[in-house]
Amino acid sequence: MRPDRLNPLFAAAASLPSVGPAAVRALERLDIARVKDVLFHFPIGWRHTRSITHLADAREGERVAIPVTIVAHEPPRGRGPHRIAADDAGGLGLVLAFFGPRASGLAARFPVGSTITVAGRLDLWNGCFQIIHPEPVQGRVAEAEPVYPLTQGMTSRRLAALATSALERVPELEEWIEPSLLAKKGWPAFREALSLVHSNPESEAARNRLAHDELFASQLAWALVRARRRRVKGRALQGSGRLTDRLLESLPWPLTGAQRHAIAEIAGDMAQPAAMLRLLQGDVGAGKTVVALMALLFAVEAGAQGAFLAPTDLLARQHHATLQTMLGTLPVRLGFLSGRDKGKAREATLSALAAGEIDILVGTHAIFMGAVQYRNLGLAIVDEQHRFGVAQRMMLSEKADRPPHLLVMTATPIPRTLALAHFGEMDVSRLDERPPGRQPVDTRVVALARLDDVLDGLARHIASGAQAYWVCPLLDAGVEEEVQSDPDAAAPAVARAAMLKHRFGNSVALVHGKMPGAQRDAEMARFQSGAAKVLVATTVIEVGVDVPNASLMVIEAAERFGLAQLHQLRGRVGRGTAKSVCLLLRGENLSASAKERLKMMRATDDGFAIAEADLKLRGAGELLGTRQSGDQGFTIATPEQVSRLLPAADADARLLMARDGGLEGPRGAAARNLLYIFEKDAAVATLRGG
Ligand code: ADP
Ligand code: MG
Repeated sequence: MRPDRLNPLFAAAASLPSVGPAAVRALERLDIARVKDVLFHFPIGWRHTRSITHLADAREGERVAIPVTIVAHEPPRGRGPHRIAADDAGGLGLVLAFFGPRASGLAARFPVGSTITVAGRLDLWNGCFQIIHPEPVQGRVAEAEPVYPLTQGMTSRRLAALATSALERVPELEEWIEPSLLAKKGWPAFREALSLVHSNPESEAARNRLAHDELFASQLAWALVRARRRRVKGRALQGSGRLTDRLLESLPWPLTGAQRHAIAEIAGDMAQPAAMLRLLQGDVGAGKTVVALMALLFAVEAGAQGAFLAPTDLLARQHHATLQTMLGTLPVRLGFLSGRDKGKAREATLSALAAGEIDILVGTHAIFMGAVQYRNLGLAIVDEQHRFGVAQRMMLSEKADRPPHLLVMTATPIPRTLALAHFGEMDVSRLDERPPGRQPVDTRVVALARLDDVLDGLARHIASGAQAYWVCPLLDAGVEEEVQSDPDAAAPAVARAAMLKHRFGNSVALVHGKMPGAQRDAEMARFQSGAAKVLVATTVIEVGVDVPNASLMVIEAAERFGLAQLHQLRGRVGRGTAKSVCLLLRGENLSASAKERLKMMRATDDGFAIAEADLKLRGAGELLGTRQSGDQGFTIATPEQVSRLLPAADADARLLMARDGGLEGPRGAAARNLLYIFEKDAAVATLRGG
């Protein structure tokens, strides 16, 4: 149980002063629900405001604070703004513009004849300086203020004030970092570091300390899981060949050498009493599914159940269908469960599973949730997860009296440090050989200006009976401007689908993340059955979707995608026997690194080479302000910090475990607090008194 002392950090953000329902909703959009989330939402830079007295000294686009005299009000006409004409000290004109609800009550706040200092960004409008939604300033103007990642209804100043209130709730905690490491790095204490980050977005030492804390918590949690695994024996599963031999005979192609090798390694692990922990890496199309099925069948042959977890409902359904086809007439009972199954159907699946009437359960995260009971789970396979964390691992091990074997599959060639952070320490099998007869995908970069040609090409492609994907990026959610509204991220895909439907009618299907699940399934099914010829999508189709008849991939605004993502997307075609084409549609004025990415895509389809280039191109300098960093699993640590700080955090975690594996000494007790702060409760639960 978490010590009471830490509870203030976990209190609702609504418990902070003057946070009403509207603020709660805005905070939720930033993934901020609790006091600690406020503290861990870091500023991403400074916003500078220059105090001036004469507009003549200012530049367009600059943020200034300037005293002005109010000359006249011009109420809104139609949907235009309320405008206020004002003069600077030298009589030069400035317009203050207010849109929508902000235009009310202005006459009283800006009385004609008064002199008021206002702050805001200077724009040029009809040749005249203008500030949209200027803020009146009282007293001294802050020259530099921290800027936070924002959403509609939330300002940087508000977040800074919330952080200040939240900081008062942080208890004084004993140091958990090894004293010599702390001294060597010159890092501040935990509470001080939080305070520093919010008052000065550039405090490197504080940022590094907090990133280290997060990584140290992660690695310590993994170390605890490892220690537990050493104490608790798993279950040896020896396949008989009863099912696997028949599967191999029925496959339309021979296994590749790499597949045979991986299968042998997995079988070897599963035959041991220590629970397997293995990562199967193989580029898109390398043929991981059949390896997974072989492993599942070994478990079934040995009288155990298998579970196969996919990241999305879509992929889980597809895996279910694929396994069903591959199994053919083999006597194996396949079940399916996703979060969308409700009521009777769900009850029936659960009771069949508990009774041992299902041999292999395929599904989403729902298959490891609390209510789900297996009769004798022997093997769990986890496909295409960016991570499978401590909590998930613990949940899984509670599904059986002895911890099941675990196989994690990924198409992303993760560097060792990241794999260590996301999956803990694992053995690795690699599928470094493609099934024979694959033709490389013909990749071309085309300017968006040539859209008409692309559409004609698409028309010919469909007329020949083949299918195509058309992928659109999500809208950028800006971070800086407080006036900007929350964009609907799927808008580009929706608009493109509408345009294509205009030309191609009902043979266009659309899927995106904001769509209700059932509708998405229906659209996907239309494409899978061939009824729809073109599938317009956001990156929801990124991983695993398999429609061999689709041999054209159009990626719009390709310059906005990362290399790894482009590679994943391209991997959706080139799966059948037909020659496949990938068109990367690009916009104007590409950055040097965007050009480099597109060039790389044209030059190679080697996933490992692409992953390496990706790391290099993303480079150290890139500041990931928003939760983009979330897809590598950490809230605080940026990808750059992960690669730089993880080795030391891991070493420190191992050192602490070697000295005090029960976390019972003073430093161990301090480290327990750290684990709770970073929500590694499942790992603490492996300890006595946890
Ligand atoms: P991954 O999950 O690794 O991206 P899949 O398991 O979906 O790849 O396999 C991609 C395609 O290759 C599938 O259509 C599958 O049937 C086929 N395939 C798998 N192994 C072989 C093989 N040894 N020879 C020929 N085709 C194969
Ligand atoms: Mg796959």
